[in-house]
Amino acid sequence: MTTTKRSWAEPYKIKMVEPLRVTTREERERALREAGWNTFLLRSEDVYIDLLTDSGTNAMSDRQWAGLMLGDEAYAGSANFYRLEAAVRKFYGYKYLVPTHQGRGAENILSQCLIKPGDYVPGNMYFTTTRAHQELAGATFVDVIIDEAHDPTSEHPFKGNVDLEKLDALVKRVGAQKVPYVSVAATVNMAGGQPISMKNLREVSEYCRAKGIKVILDATRAVENAWFVKRREKGYEHKSVAEILRETCSYTDGATMSGKKDLLVNIGGFLALNDEKTFEEARNLVVVYEGLHTYGGLAGRDMEAMARGIEEAVEEAHIRARIGQVEYVGQRLLEAGVPIVVPIGGHAVFLDATRFLPHLPQVAFPAQTLAGELYLESGIRAMERGIVSAGRNRETGDHNYPKLELVRLTFPRRVYTQAHCDVTVESVVELYERRRSIKGLRMVYEPKYLRFFQARFDRLEG
Ligand SMILES: *Cc1c(COP(=O)(O)O)cnc(C)c1O
Repeated sequence: MTTTKRSWAEPYKIKMVEPLRVTTREERERALREAGWNTFLLRSEDVYIDLLTDSGTNAMSDRQWAGLMLGDEAYAGSANFYRLEAAVRKFYGYKYLVPTHQGRGAENILSQCLIKPGDYVPGNMYFTTTRAHQELAGATFVDVIIDEAHDPTSEHPFKGNVDLEKLDALVKRVGAQKVPYVSVAATVNMAGGQPISMKNLREVSEYCRAKGIKVILDATRAVENAWFVKRREKGYEHKSVAEILRETCSYTDGATMSGKKDLLVNIGGFLALNDEKTFEEARNLVVVYEGLHTYGGLAGRDMEAMARGIEEAVEEAHIRARIGQVEYVGQRLLEAGVPIVVPIGGHAVFLDATRFLPHLPQVAFPAQTLAGELYLESGIRAMERGIVSAGRNRETGDHNYPKLELVRLTFPRRVYTQAHCDVTVESVVELYERRRSIKGLRMVYEPKYLRFFQARFDRLEG
């Protein structure tokens, strides 16, 4: 037998360990009951493999940890700010930088600078905090993503693309003066970590420049997007991820960034801009909300770790392994016949609870149930993205009934190994094999705002 295929391995070795505790089924039964079947209410020490989110859960490198010791904690003009500014200029290409405590801090300032009450902000699907700040500043968000993004079985390679006809229809309806900018995310988190193509972004940019509309990038996951462009878009296969990232940013006028994702830190973010006038306004506003414009709510050491994270994020071995790990889990689940959203996204695998538990009606909370059962099975923590997350209709008081009823398995960067991935796959497959015995839930406590964080449930009997 001649086989030349070698196994894949993580492109790092482990220097410091954090012990994990394997709990018993009885312990998990108790913990989940105490948490009201809500994975957000579990204590982290009762969790074995934590796939709740990839936000701020990254493992930093030895270079980043070493950088913490070089924190210049001066109130004004910290050396780490200038290092961060240089890294953003070099890798993202924007002229001006305003650091913020995390992504939403940048979204708040940007929205206040660019939006007037009564404006419209089109975007390739909403993100929770981004839309909240646009609305708080007086704008109406309009979804202009292509229809395929809403279909969990569509294999479109760039489900994050903007539908230019939808965009043009909005601009014709309300007038370009009422559209301060187009909000473009790369990749699109709420669509399942799906990328936007360079061709589409270029077309959006050309369209907007002709109309005097700005393009603002949500760059939180733009490195992951660059990897998909390299893998899927003709003409980019021989470009480096760093080159693709620079080109992405070149079609936009500025970016908001949550460093807690791509940039391999536990806290941090920034707003980056090319236009001097908007920058001056943003630099002034940041003083009100975040802190002086050379620290923006961050310690000097945090800015240093983020500057180093920017350099590491675009290393091909890293990004290949990061997305490769998600792909590996998704691919193995597909092979086992488990229903998941395709194509597999950049940061998470989404179990399709509607097809996983077809005997449960949506009012029995299939995704919430599945997330709870997965925890009971294996101690793995995931997140519901379905009817609970969608909340209630403000007019009728009834639930919103989203098309997608999903459980998100989100992979923190550089935290778990191939063996943890195997355990995850095996746990999901075992659950799938006994899926018919799974009973639904009823909601016994419902908070008024963002109910998915704090709602409580009980198992339905019978
Ligand atoms: C996490 C995230 C944000 C918000 O950033 P925070 O750091 O959590 O405030 C914005 N956009 C996208 C795409 C995200 O994933």
